[in-house]
Amino acid sequence: MALIVQKYGGSSVADTESIKRVAKRVVETEKKGNKVAVVVSAMGDTTDDLIDQALSIDSSPPEREMDMLMTAGERISMSLLAMAIHAEGSRAHSFTGQQAGFFTDARYGAAHIKAVRPDRVKNALSLGDIAIVAGFQGINAKGDATTLGRGGSDTSAVALAVALGADICEIYTDVDGIFTADPRIVPSARRIPSIDYESILEMASCGSKVLALRCVEYAQRFNMPLHVRSSFSRRPGTLVVPDGIDPRTLPNLD
Ligand code: ASP
Ligand code: MG
Repeated sequence: MALIVQKYGGSSVADTESIKRVAKRVVETEKKGNKVAVVVSAMGDTTDDLIDQALSIDSSPPEREMDMLMTAGERISMSLLAMAIHAEGSRAHSFTGQQAGFFTDARYGAAHIKAVRPDRVKNALSLGDIAIVAGFQGINAKGDATTLGRGGSDTSAVALAVALGADICEIYTDVDGIFTADPRIVPSARRIPSIDYESILEMASCGSKVLALRCVEYAQRFNMPLHVRSSFSRRPGTLVVPDGIDPRTLPNLD
């Protein structure tokens, strides 16, 4: 049995049909005998829409209120996904960043994770439930909601995987992994089956943006293997692994 953290990005949970599809995939992973914790992004363009709404009221809104607003996006997707998993016949329990124990510094809009103490998530997993965690958010020392910067759910997922001691962190997106170029623009781009952290960081600094830079740095620091793959296909994705790890030994590759 493996402990797997799965992260689903905004395009994978864009509408309720997509959320039902993701729920099936999560339950399937659980039914194979794994413990599963899921980190979700906000649905589709929700975060952009929330920002537009705020700016239509005030061109420089208070940072604290902005973060309070933006954390709402992930709360919508986490609770809908928990319901969809319930409708599939499995048990799921959703947690905000605060409930999942994400403690950050005070930088609203670009907070850094200082500690992750996911006691409630661990408890849910030990009871046999699937845990769903809102990405991109935490709580500062004052007890206020903070956000980690755009695209921050990838970092939430890796940080949760590290704190839980997971075997792998799977990042589900809308492309089949990491490519030599953007496959949506360059049709001859090739999928990279497996790669090390250093090379990904180089690609990211050259403008490739499949994974948030901070997420890769975090994974590298704690040797957390990543599997970047599509939630729309069953094809293998890209494994990002520490040197010396045989990628074929990682769980849930099919
Ligand atoms: N929903 C947030 C954003 O759009 C976080 C994320 O998607 O990772 O930036
Ligand atoms: Mg998003």
